[in-house]
Amino acid sequence: MFLNIFDSHTHSDTSWDARHSITFLCETAVKKGILGFAITDHVEINEFYSRNIEKRIRQGHFEMLKARAAFGQSLILSYGIELGQMTYDMDLTRKVLSMVDRDFVLASLHCIRGSEDFYYMNFEGTDPYALLAEYYEELIAIAKLGLFDSMAHISYPVRYMNGNYDLGVDLTRMDDHIETLLRILAQNGKALELNTCGMREKIGEPSPTLRYLKRFRELGGEFLTIGSDAHSADVIGAGIQEGMALAKEAGFDYFTFYKKRQPRLLQIY
Ligand SMILES: [Zn+2]
Ligand SMILES: [Zn+2]
Repeated sequence: MFLNIFDSHTHSDTSWDARHSITFLCETAVKKGILGFAITDHVEINEFYSRNIEKRIRQGHFEMLKARAAFGQSLILSYGIELGQMTYDMDLTRKVLSMVDRDFVLASLHCIRGSEDFYYMNFEGTDPYALLAEYYEELIAIAKLGLFDSMAHISYPVRYMNGNYDLGVDLTRMDDHIETLLRILAQNGKALELNTCGMREKIGEPSPTLRYLKRFRELGGEFLTIGSDAHSADVIGAGIQEGMALAKEAGFDYFTFYKKRQPRLLQIY
């Protein structure tokens, strides 16, 4: 049992694929004895207009302010964003980043250019390693931009390639790409995310696995955020304690959350 449980990746019903209001997430977090969490609702740059995201951001921000007024004494609420595919439209990305003040920017990549989200793919007739090469080249481009605080679930495609489709992908074949990515993050003082979602799904492992957490640490990575990727209140905080144990094993004595875009360290104990 660890203290200091902080979940840096959660979705409220501001995200089209999530179920509960920020207020209900706060109520649940307090009941679970969680120290705090970050709201990281989706902003997918390539779906910004089709998902009416500008309106969602305004509403979500307002909901967060109400929740902060009600729960600010009981838990730490970090107001963040999961910003997907930021390289696909840089002008829009800059506009989104300047719309409201945020505590935390979590960068993610859910699809490669011209393709649908890996979540929807069936991988028929594809070479998974070619897809992964494209995926990591884009993640490296995002890492170089440095407009974010932490990089989310860096083995996202594998969750579906191996989890849903048993393609038997050996991620170590991408180690050169991943090494480059981790080195850029470490050198630029960016955080890596340990996403625990896969631990409660068919694939049964976090993203990334211990191998890459260790490598990030060896390369001088200081900041690690841990997130459940909860899309409903019942799983807020899920896997965070297991994540803290993994972080410890990888050589981290602290993990990180963000307030006003600054890293705050929490001891793992
Ligand atoms: Zn994501
Ligand atoms: Zn997410």
